[in-house]
Amino acid sequence: MMYCRRCGGKVAVHMRQHKLALCKDHYLEWVLEQVDKAIKRYQMFSSQERMLVAVSGGKDSLSLWDILRRLGYQADGLYIGLGIDEGLGYSSESRRMCEQFAAEGGLKLHVVDVEQTYGETVPGMMRRTERGRQKACAVCGLAKRHIMNQVAREGGYHVLVTGHNLDDEAAVLMGNTLNWLTGYLVRQGPVLEATRSGMTRKAKPLCRMYEREMAAYALLRGIQYIYEECPFSEGSKTIYYKEILNKLEHDRPGAKLSFYLTFLQAKENGLFTPQADPELEMLHTCPSCGQATTAPGLCAFCRMVEGYQ
Ligand code: AMP
Ligand code: ZN
Repeated sequence: MMYCRRCGGKVAVHMRQHKLALCKDHYLEWVLEQVDKAIKRYQMFSSQERMLVAVSGGKDSLSLWDILRRLGYQADGLYIGLGIDEGLGYSSESRRMCEQFAAEGGLKLHVVDVEQTYGETVPGMMRRTERGRQKACAVCGLAKRHIMNQVAREGGYHVLVTGHNLDDEAAVLMGNTLNWLTGYLVRQGPVLEATRSGMTRKAKPLCRMYEREMAAYALLRGIQYIYEECPFSEGSKTIYYKEILNKLEHDRPGAKLSFYLTFLQAKENGLFTPQADPELEMLHTCPSCGQATTAPGLCAFCRMVEGYQ
């Protein structure tokens, strides 16, 4: 039998990756603390800044909106109607979830309907363009990024936040490292600064939260969200990488978080700027063989063979 680490009460969520079990109230409190820590650790934004949170109707972004509000941040929402409705009504259902969440909380929600604004739905763009026939998700991503930036700029928002969680970020990282896409690796992180004028800073406050943790949060807070995944994501590489990472996580709890955090740490240490490599600065010369070594005195090899020569 396990008990809440903070109060000894009945456990609602057990996290092997953190060796931590908590009751409902303390779990909800813990999530707020974790997100607040990430916001500060990566200097995402301050409470004076105007924020736009992109909400898809899924558990991550709606929970994020809820968390930001409970942490005392002022955030308006943006829902983009992509027009993915054939068959299942994915877009209209997700729009309804966002509108309901906003109405219940008295929050401001911007809605951009792609077909109304640009004359064509996103699936229409996928079918019409060569790019879309090759990579459906690339077209959708392009449209979303463009519209998010546009609304943020026109509305005078300082920062745009999205609900990307650890599983999303680790899967992207896996794709980027398997192909050593250095350009993407340099830019991948919890914050993307606005490097060009007309762009808005982007931040991902949930980047250290497991998908499972966000599902538990939404459930325990009673947040209504759309369970369905986008029908176009079926069979995607991202889903494949997520499955691989989940296998790894199953055998080694914490592996996913460590994969992502050690990447961020390596970047802070200058992974992409070799001239800033701290080890390189501190190299010494081994007095015995003359080769480079990280600590003063004999190098590791000379220490090993010492006395056997
Ligand atoms: P996805 O790319 O679907 O994994 O979503 C990642 C994040 O992008 C979500 O957490 C939202 O913040 C944002 N997002 C995705 N779809 C939409 C949408 N239709 N409207 C607004 N934001 C979205
Ligand atoms: Zn408790």
